[in-house]
Amino acid sequence: MTESSLAYTTPDSWTQFLLFAKNKLTAVAFRNWIEPIGVLEITSTEITLEVPNVFVKEYLLANHSKDLAAFLPINNEGKPAIKFVIAEKKIVKKPSLISENKPKVDTQKQKSKLNDNYRFQTFIEGAENQFVKSAALSVSSRPGKTYNPLIIHGGVGLGKTHILHSIGHSILEKRKDARIHCITTEEFINDLVEHLKNKSLGKMKRYYRSEVDVLLVDDLQFLQGRENFEEEFCNTLEALIHQNKQIVITSDKPPSLLKLSERITARMEWGLVAHVGAPELETRVAILQHKAQQRGLTLSNEIAFIIAERIFQNVRQLEGAINRLCVHTKLLGLDLTEELVEQTLSDMLQYVPREAITIDDILKYVSKTFQVSISDLRKKGRKKEVVIPRQVAMYLACKLEIGTLQSISDLLDKTHSTILHAKKNIEKKLESDELLRRQVLLVEKHINQRSKNH
Ligand code: ADP
Ligand code: MG
Repeated sequence: MTESSLAYTTPDSWTQFLLFAKNKLTAVAFRNWIEPIGVLEITSTEITLEVPNVFVKEYLLANHSKDLAAFLPINNEGKPAIKFVIAEKKIVKKPSLISENKPKVDTQKQKSKLNDNYRFQTFIEGAENQFVKSAALSVSSRPGKTYNPLIIHGGVGLGKTHILHSIGHSILEKRKDARIHCITTEEFINDLVEHLKNKSLGKMKRYYRSEVDVLLVDDLQFLQGRENFEEEFCNTLEALIHQNKQIVITSDKPPSLLKLSERITARMEWGLVAHVGAPELETRVAILQHKAQQRGLTLSNEIAFIIAERIFQNVRQLEGAINRLCVHTKLLGLDLTEELVEQTLSDMLQYVPREAITIDDILKYVSKTFQVSISDLRKKGRKKEVVIPRQVAMYLACKLEIGTLQSISDLLDKTHSTILHAKKNIEKKLESDELLRRQVLLVEKHINQRSKNH
């Protein structure tokens, strides 16, 4: 899936903004200020607007920054990422006209084609991407000196490109003149084809061997089945590695599962191979909240959980969900409720069929994890080693909502206040007791797996 499949990255997002503005403004204001604006280019990270004069630009920023941020690409500060071009006299472009013009490249940063939003600062960390992130940070602080090449692999939309570009930005922050070359495998092959056609392969080789300090290659899987190009790719890698130039490569599979020559595979496995996994519930909630905040959308914890529980395969979809909710709340002025989530995201939300969790499941896995008997858990005795596991069982019965407080107290033969006290006590302990946190997570994991296995 490409980024252009998101609502806000399509040219349509400008039309949506126009619709919104038309609703909000008087006809005269709309005609004077908004209508004369033309769109020159929309990418996933920036929109280039052509304005008749600087006043229109100032008007737009002063009055509609927040609205624009809801519809258009945003920068890492959450502001609308707009490049303004003042129209030359007489050339008046119609709104929504998308030209092929590319912005001029001058600085090293622009040359390297790094996506401005993909930075470590905007990358949300969770257990499943911690390892990749720390390897990436280490490579960024000492390029060419730690892991070379660094291979990042994992499924679609899990942040591989985001990390790749973050490495580029981070190196440039420390060394402005670093020559970072960020390229997709597809672009590398096209380049190669072009140079072969023009009989200028030597020029390309010289470029890679003497004008690149850091090579960032995205989506290596596209080299599969392109045997003619493997050799030149591998030569390039080797030449750079010999000069201690850092290489980072992303791929949707680990090198050993890619259908590539042994030579390349061996070269890859020489470096560090790091896996980025699908985010767990807590990370997904954090990502949703981060993205919502960037777009100026107020998202309650409750709604974030509802979305995160039902969109779980891919971060890009989480982002898409926030963009869609943003447009709907802004455009129609609706409150962000559970119903709105159901309505606007119905095609994205998935149901995870679950067997109802019972008190017996909880007691069984608490007993296993804490090594105490189920009968001890049910008893009222004060044996020290049973007190915490018993409270954990009560805490989980509440957390996993196996029933009302009354039914939980009946099932465990405890009073309401004992259960509430246990729940509070465990919640408090979990803030500081790492071991207990792990044990409780383990119990929950077992319970969840039990549901899947049924
Ligand atoms: P991949 O290259 O693995 O297919 P991307 O790097 O393109 O995935 O990520 C898809 C989208 O999700 C991007 O917009 C990216 O910024 C966002 N994203 C992925 N992982 C995270 C994360 N951990 N924190 C914040 N944003 C993320
Ligand atoms: Mg990618």
